[in-house]
Amino acid sequence: MSYIEIDNLSLSFGQNKVLKDISLTIEKGELITLLGPSGCGKSTLLRVLAGLETFQEGEVYLDGEEISEVAPKDRNVGMVFQSYALFPNMTVYENIAFGLSIKKLPKKEIKEKVMDALALVNLEDKADYYPDQLSGGQQQRISLARSLVTEPKVLLLDEPLSALDAKIRKQLQMDILMLQKKLGITMIFVTHDQEEAMILSDRIFVMNGGVIEQQATPAELYSQPKSQFVASFIGNYN
Ligand code: ADP
Ligand code: MG
Repeated sequence: MSYIEIDNLSLSFGQNKVLKDISLTIEKGELITLLGPSGCGKSTLLRVLAGLETFQEGEVYLDGEEISEVAPKDRNVGMVFQSYALFPNMTVYENIAFGLSIKKLPKKEIKEKVMDALALVNLEDKADYYPDQLSGGQQQRISLARSLVTEPKVLLLDEPLSALDAKIRKQLQMDILMLQKKLGITMIFVTHDQEEAMILSDRIFVMNGGVIEQQATPAELYSQPKSQFVASFIGNYN
């Protein structure tokens, strides 16, 4: 069985069917991108994995376990958002330690883990800063560190770079790739930016209107798009 497996998942909000019979498999250590236009269901699919949405049909497996009934906090899934979502009244150190606080670890161990996480994103010197004293790119790196400190089974990233300007964005793309290779962590990265998906991904899942139109490597998608939609979406660099 694959590390992550979704079988025949369907989810509706009222009459609006947002995910339609989605099936996918992801291997441990893969970096997968969900690519598709706004409203196609990318965030909803991530939220299903995080345990933040209930759905009507299907099964979701993580590391061999069916997790539909497992509470979000017990899934060991990390999530990073576009908006960073750091606590403004806590220092960088406290923000990262917060992720560990439910685990009831000794202080010394917390400190080691937080400093290791800060080192991963090269911001050891910012432990005592508050979020608003940092740039957007630095805040997003802290938010990555906060998600990684709990050593999640999978890291879900929902358009994490969309709020950043082009130069910082390129830098963070490289940081994320480096972290992923270094830690071997499984990542699912949501974007509506084709170029970003092409650069980052082992495989890209192209979504449209609640279905996955194609699951393929960047090269395969480019050379053998399965549909007109995929061809135009992939070809459309802007
Ligand atoms: P994406 O992330 O690809 O932009 P979303 O997963 O956020 O798309 O949304 C998919 C569809 O589900 C959209 O039509 C959106 O309006 C709808 N939707 C998302 N969340 C909710 C919700 N909590 N209640 C009702 N409709 C929702
Ligand atoms: Mg979204």
